[in-house]
Amino acid sequence: MIQDTKIDHILKDAADGRPITKAEAVQLLALPENSQDAALLRATATMVSRRRFANSGLLLGQIGVDMAPCDGDCAFCFFGKSHTSVEPTLLGADEIVSRCERFADGGAEGVFLMTMHRFGFEWFRDLCAELHRRIPAHLEILANVGDISPAQLGELKDAGVSGAYHVCRIREGIDSCMTPADRWATIERILEAGLSWYNMCEPLGPEHTPEELVEQMWLGVDLPCTQHGVMQRFPVPGSPLYHHGQVSLSRLGQVAAVVALATVGKAGS
Ligand code: SF4
Repeated sequence: MIQDTKIDHILKDAADGRPITKAEAVQLLALPENSQDAALLRATATMVSRRRFANSGLLLGQIGVDMAPCDGDCAFCFFGKSHTSVEPTLLGADEIVSRCERFADGGAEGVFLMTMHRFGFEWFRDLCAELHRRIPAHLEILANVGDISPAQLGELKDAGVSGAYHVCRIREGIDSCMTPADRWATIERILEAGLSWYNMCEPLGPEHTPEELVEQMWLGVDLPCTQHGVMQRFPVPGSPLYHHGQVSLSRLGQVAAVVALATVGKAGS
């Protein structure tokens, strides 16, 4: 039997199609992750999502095409220039095509091409144009790049890019060298360019409070994202946030459940 009837009501309403409010999301995120209420939250979100998406999923791949010590210098990331040992490397077009073909063979419908925060724009644009000619036509080309201008987004679209992953991360500007304002501006430009916007609540760690998670995830509730979800942070040895460790799968599922119930009725996500 569920003890907290307030939680029960929130979940019943969400199951009936009413998206949860910010205040309700905070309450749900504050539940102990291994409580009965948290289990019911995850089960409700699973049921809502399976019903909404006809028990189906979408496979998307990602390829790191450009690796180097990154100026973004995020305190959680393997590539942060203050703590990485990575050597600058660009992946060749033939290798990227071959990986795209393997993704397509495995059932993927799109592939993100990831660069560092600063990257060679012309190189990336020309790479996208080449892939557009060479990879299976149904495989969408999606950009996961740094903050760029409206003109550059237009050029990527012309080169065959159909969407972009871009996030104003949890503790952006505190755990990274970028500002929330710059990240938001790029997200607005992505939408204005007519590209699909892919979003996440990330990089989730054990130290993040319900309130800050809700503030971060609500950008994807307020703006029309094509994808919302959650991604946990993996502790990178030598990085400043390593000591925090990582969240449990129960907590990850709890945050995913809150995203699912906050985006009930939205067109994409
Ligand atoms: S901007 Fe991206 S690649 Fe660069 S350090 Fe931050 S998370 Fe890593």
